[in-house]
Amino acid sequence: MASQPEYDVLVVGGGMVGATLAIALAGSQRRVGLVEAVPQTAPEQPSYDDRGLVLSVSSQRVLRGLGLWDSLQIRSHPVRQVHVSDQRHFGCVRLRADALGMTVLGHVVQAQALGAVLQQTLSAVRNIDFICPARVQTAEILPDQANLHISSNGDERILHTRLLVAADGSRSLLRQAFGIEIDHHDYNQTAIVSSVTPERPHHDTAFERFNPHGPLALLPLNANRCVLVYTLPTAQATEIQDLPDDAFLARVQQAFGRRLGCLQEPGPRKSYPLHSIIAKEQVRERLVVLGNAAHTLHPNAAQGFNLCLRDIAGLAEVLLPVLRQAGDPGLRRVLNLYRDLRKPDQAAVHQFTHGLASLFYNEIPHKVMFRNSMMLILEMMPGLKNRLALRAMGLTGKQPRLVRGVTL
Ligand SMILES: Cc1cc2nc3c(=O)[nH]c(=O)nc-3n(C[C@H](O)[C@H](O)[C@H](O)COP(=O)(O)OP(=O)(O)OC[C@H]3O[C@@H](n4cnc5c(N)ncnc54)[C@H](O)[C@@H]3O)c2cc1C
Repeated sequence: MASQPEYDVLVVGGGMVGATLAIALAGSQRRVGLVEAVPQTAPEQPSYDDRGLVLSVSSQRVLRGLGLWDSLQIRSHPVRQVHVSDQRHFGCVRLRADALGMTVLGHVVQAQALGAVLQQTLSAVRNIDFICPARVQTAEILPDQANLHISSNGDERILHTRLLVAADGSRSLLRQAFGIEIDHHDYNQTAIVSSVTPERPHHDTAFERFNPHGPLALLPLNANRCVLVYTLPTAQATEIQDLPDDAFLARVQQAFGRRLGCLQEPGPRKSYPLHSIIAKEQVRERLVVLGNAAHTLHPNAAQGFNLCLRDIAGLAEVLLPVLRQAGDPGLRRVLNLYRDLRKPDQAAVHQFTHGLASLFYNEIPHKVMFRNSMMLILEMMPGLKNRLALRAMGLTGKQPRLVRGVTL
């Protein structure tokens, strides 16, 4: 190799996953670069919009370990209960934090607020080179380094790194550039995300209500606001997406029922077509594929970013000792450790969300009967229900140190 690459790790994509990884690696005191096409506050920024994210207790631990939780907690709202029901059917599941010996089941934070905390932290850390706005054009992997061609404010540059991390979203240019194949499934469903204020207090409860058109979730926010996520077959979502506020609210009210009284003050709406994308390879010599680029999941169980945070914890756990000893983080044998650590959790979460999408987002009579029976069984077997809840929170199985509350 002619000269040392200027970066040890170069992360492409400063969305919620890439930015969090860069912050996690800053503690190595090595040279970390983060390349992002769209500034955090720009309206077209795809990662930091109005969507409400449910962050699990395992995510809280990871974010605390990275020094981000205190700033985030004041911008988030706790979830202490979950209520799942099926319109016109008998099934109903209730989950309470105190039944699990916990004070909360999770927190809801808006992606924008997360973006503000990540941005604030990035600008305070000296050894992260945040290159934004800058768009990646191409990349190549050589035996000792990876080269990244970027365009920034009309200039073209080439950056060199020991390890390249592709955190550039579902349509990852890097994943395509390196010919990494994917398994893709189009759910033919669209999630409409908005916000409402219910007439009655939400009491820190997250609601999921199944009805013949699709499930509707209300997630608690401060000032008795709720994030609304209404998932529908795409043709029906297109039909109601642009209805006037009154007509839209009437449809939502009809689907959710009167449990929280009248739903009022609808916020702006945004639609997300739903699909799953699983990259067939996540590591190669000098390359890691991370976040939505590695696995884009159905948002039904609020697992996507929570799983990504456990991946980030696992990757940081593998890379930090190598970086602190001035070793080479791009070696395949190092990256295989990360792949093997995270494979079981990733596979289980994908199976879980994909299975739920087929069982719970479906009105075929025998599936409706099955899901209602499942809900009834869960209500009658609190031990099983609580074990499933801990699983969904990422608190079971072999997990990275930050998830177990151990510092890196
Ligand atoms: C409706 C909905 C609700 C959800 N709710 C939850 C929830 O409650 N809990 C949960 O855990 N998860 C949830 N998720 C999942 C969560 O949003 C994703 O896990 C998360 O967005 C993944 O982030 P990312 O950084 O990998 O990708 P993205 O958010 O797509 O970010 C990719 C970044 O890469 C940048 N980029 C792309 N191409 C280039 C390029 N060529 N050069 C430079 N930069 C580039 C983009 O500008 C962007 O900033 C939800 C998802 C949806 C759709």
